[in-house]
Amino acid sequence: MSKLDSKTPKGPIKDQWTKHKNEINLVNPANKRHIDIIVVGTGLAGGAAAASLAEMGYKVKAFAYQDSPRRAHSIAAQGGINAAKNYQNDGDSTYRLFYDTVKGGDYRARESNVYRLAEVSANIIDQCVAQGVPFAREYGGLLDNRSFGGVLVSRTFYAKGQTGQQLLLGAYSAMNRQIGKGKITMYNRHEMMDIVKVDGKARGIIARNMITGEIEKHSAHAVVIASGGYGNVFFLSTNAMGSNASAAWKIHKKGAYFANPCYTQIHPTCVPRAGDFQSKLTLMSESLRNDGRIWVPKNMEDVMAIREGRKKPTDLSEDKRDYYLERRYPAFGNLVPRDVASRAAKERCDAGYGVNATGEAVYLDFKAAINRYGNEKAHVLGIHNPNDAKILELGEGVIEEKYGNLFQMYEKIIDENPYKTPMMIYPAVHYTMGGIWCDYNLMTTIPGCYAAGEANFSDHGANRLGASALMQGLADGYFVLPYTIGDYLADDIRTGPIPTDSPEFNAAAKEVTDQLEKLINIKGTKSVDSFHKRLGEVMWNKVGMSRNAQGLTEAMDEIKQIREEFWKDVRVPGGMNELNPELEKATRVADFLELGELFAKDALAREESCGGHFREESVELDGEQKGEAKRNDKDFAYVAAWEYKGNPREAVMHKEELEFNDIELKQRSYK
Ligand SMILES: Cc1cc2nc3c(=O)[nH]c(=O)nc-3n(C[C@H](O)[C@H](O)[C@H](O)COP(=O)(O)OP(=O)(O)OC[C@H]3O[C@@H](n4cnc5c(N)ncnc54)[C@H](O)[C@@H]3O)c2cc1C
Repeated sequence: MSKLDSKTPKGPIKDQWTKHKNEINLVNPANKRHIDIIVVGTGLAGGAAAASLAEMGYKVKAFAYQDSPRRAHSIAAQGGINAAKNYQNDGDSTYRLFYDTVKGGDYRARESNVYRLAEVSANIIDQCVAQGVPFAREYGGLLDNRSFGGVLVSRTFYAKGQTGQQLLLGAYSAMNRQIGKGKITMYNRHEMMDIVKVDGKARGIIARNMITGEIEKHSAHAVVIASGGYGNVFFLSTNAMGSNASAAWKIHKKGAYFANPCYTQIHPTCVPRAGDFQSKLTLMSESLRNDGRIWVPKNMEDVMAIREGRKKPTDLSEDKRDYYLERRYPAFGNLVPRDVASRAAKERCDAGYGVNATGEAVYLDFKAAINRYGNEKAHVLGIHNPNDAKILELGEGVIEEKYGNLFQMYEKIIDENPYKTPMMIYPAVHYTMGGIWCDYNLMTTIPGCYAAGEANFSDHGANRLGASALMQGLADGYFVLPYTIGDYLADDIRTGPIPTDSPEFNAAAKEVTDQLEKLINIKGTKSVDSFHKRLGEVMWNKVGMSRNAQGLTEAMDEIKQIREEFWKDVRVPGGMNELNPELEKATRVADFLELGELFAKDALAREESCGGHFREESVELDGEQKGEAKRNDKDFAYVAAWEYKGNPREAVMHKEELEFNDIELKQRSYK
């Protein structure tokens, strides 16, 4: 095991980014015109990067597997985006956002990156407002904020329950301006199949035209991977069905280290699973925890009565309910961070208090908020002594304004009216904090290859706070990469166009074609999905929230076994030279089947509980955890970056020791 250098600038943390920007190499505007950059992914991170790099003068080629950048998974983001603007005058600051993020991530994030993230967060809001993103505003016209888990301030900017969509439209408009000027060439429906290295440097990619099946070679002086997260390794997750790990995994196999693969965010507020034939889980935004109170019945008789349909949740009086988050964490209450809320929900359900047929659901109740808002609104409207029906009507109206689309979505899925009956929620796989390791400049261990957004191992340690993914993706794309990539490209101003008829490009293209042919020619008996589902079951049962050494060891063997069966018995109908969604899925599942094993190996190496994961050996009897990193707990405070060595089992870990800066962080407790 060797140690990794993050190349974090020296000096006080608050000066590092400014100093770094002042000192790194620049490429002058005339030279930028001679430099090509490939950006894989046009979600918020890739879209922002492509637009900014082209605006600065670079020639950009952008790739996405959807038919438009507008359909990237970022569109699904509901709740909001954080920024330390302190518009609410509630004591927010760059330092507080930095502090909350490091603490929220169980002290396992690189502090220098997090500080930079907090520093540029305010610029992101200005940038997006300038693009016309319609953030929610207060009556007077000022931007509104709400609160998310793990913080004591309101710093989340939002656009109803569609924040990701509106931000993506902003990034897409900025990209489109450059597409119109010919500065970005957009390759929709093109999937990156591999990276091409020449003399050790990233010099291009092999892409498949998903409509015609043609294998194409594209060169550039640098490659940015912004291909999103890999939560779908669990089969069931809140991610879009197409979200996959392939671009990240392919660069990993060519030399990019993969960091902290086992850090998964388990989101506490998702619609519970209905049965075995489900392929997708639906998120109910965390913003709902601003107004919803989480509870389970106090008594087992009530649990059974509810499950058997003899009682409704609304039949239970207040004294029969256990608002367990408010009870255990009075300071943060229902707004504890996601990992804490998820673990607590699982703990209650494991103890038998789950309220649906499978025993995997807790309530999220808006009754108190509806009453509160109803009374407030009646007061504003000058209605004295409103009756209960009026309060309900007014209160529901306010809730509808804030979360209407989420309530509608819930009702469509569960067929119950959440204004009248509490929602049922349960934790689900949502976000992956792990990803491609990169240094302070966001460069991976392949020179000239960068990683941005959810695809990199990011700034969130073992747990991401709500509304921080959009912030990080846009920080990477709008404000970090555009500066840092020049430091590397300054050496390429005389290189000229990179030819694609070289042995390196030909060999990579052949490797891709061979793999596709192999998949088509297996002509086995089982569908791609059947293997994916089996992988997902192992991942959730043995590598998910609860883990132990024995289960993880078994999981590694089982995943290997599923992978071997896949390569013998998968059936991929159709041909290579046509639109073939099964073939696309097969290539992605093949990669998940490798990544899953590395994921389990990483989890095995992490002996402590952290983020959304319980390491069973380290859980104490009262349900509290031991092994959570404290500030001085150097044993746990590292990034595990894995180097590929022929197969996932042989991967070698390189440790990046996390440096703690001189800023004093307070106690870890959320109580
Ligand atoms: C339901 C849901 C709600 C969320 N809500 C919030 C929220 O309110 N606030 C928040 O901060 N975060 C939220 N998140 C997290 C956040 O949305 C994501 O982390 C973020 O949008 C990821 O952005 P990205 O640009 O990194 O990746 P994506 O948006 O996933 O984009 C990936 C891009 O890569 C492309 N791509 C992938 N592989 C290839 C390939 N091989 N070849 C070519 N192109 C490829 C895709 O076409 C796409 O353009 C939410 C997540 C989910 C699942």
